[in-house]
Amino acid sequence: MTELRDLYQELILEHARKPRNFRELATPTCRHADGHNPLCGDRFRVFVDLVGQGIRDASFTGEGCAISKASASLMTETLRGRTREEAEALYHRFHELVTGRKPLAADEDLGKLQVFAGVSEFPARVKCASLAWHALAAALDDSAEVVTTE
Ligand code: ZN
Repeated sequence: MTELRDLYQELILEHARKPRNFRELATPTCRHADGHNPLCGDRFRVFVDLVGQGIRDASFTGEGCAISKASASLMTETLRGRTREEAEALYHRFHELVTGRKPLAADEDLGKLQVFAGVSEFPARVKCASLAWHALAAALDDSAEVVTTE
């Protein structure tokens, strides 16, 4: 278990250092929303290019701690090519995972997002890990408000 944890931690740190899809999207079909976690100071803008019900692209910009940044990075990586419905289902499962309401059995659909399972032991970090997902939900709803974890 310790080895697995180390591996997870490594992946999180690697994504925090070199976040994927760290850029703005500016296509006509693109929407975005802002997320703010005042407890930690994480602040992100999540972009999603929704064509019909399909996510063509996803990206983010902003600043935050390693967990929030790695979470946004892995989220945008996972979302590409998914449907809106799949994205909403993933959000739900991810939230269950980081809040520890889900047994730690392998969840193939979550894929690499499972690295955040350890976050459930640190309640203050759950908001960091979920922030990008909150912003994503707002972007999918095309809501202009800034979502906050508080
Ligand atoms: Zn944070």
